[in-house]
Amino acid sequence: MSKGAELKRELLAELAKCRACRFCVDVCPTYQASQGVEPLSSFGRLQIIRHLLTGVLQLDDALSYALYSCLQCRRCENVCQSKGQALEICRTIHQGRVYLSPSYVKGVEEVEGDA
Ligand code: SF4
Ligand code: SF4
Repeated sequence: MSKGAELKRELLAELAKCRACRFCVDVCPTYQASQGVEPLSSFGRLQIIRHLLTGVLQLDDALSYALYSCLQCRRCENVCQSKGQALEICRTIHQGRVYLSPSYVKGVEEVEGDA
């Protein structure tokens, strides 16, 4: 399995653990600051990554902003953990940014092309 395919598999496996309970949403500071814009919440970001990985959405400026505006503060993770699900939300958002960045895709293609 290629490096890119392995990362995608890992991300989808982590995203599949989410029960969509939304307990993490209200504590997210960017969700609070936006007065309730769903894509700027923890759960919203996870959904964006899942839909980008599965081809339902295409990356655009608004979705990039949603992913890169995450503060990596872990408030969402603490709530998720307290509810017994313990998703690695920050790592998933960070890895999603990496996977979906054009430079990462280009880099993987170059490395695999050289192999
Ligand atoms: S608290 Fe955890 S399981 Fe619930 S929606 Fe948020 S990430 Fe998903
Ligand atoms: S880590 Fe990101 S998604 Fe989670 S609460 Fe902080 S800003 Fe929101």
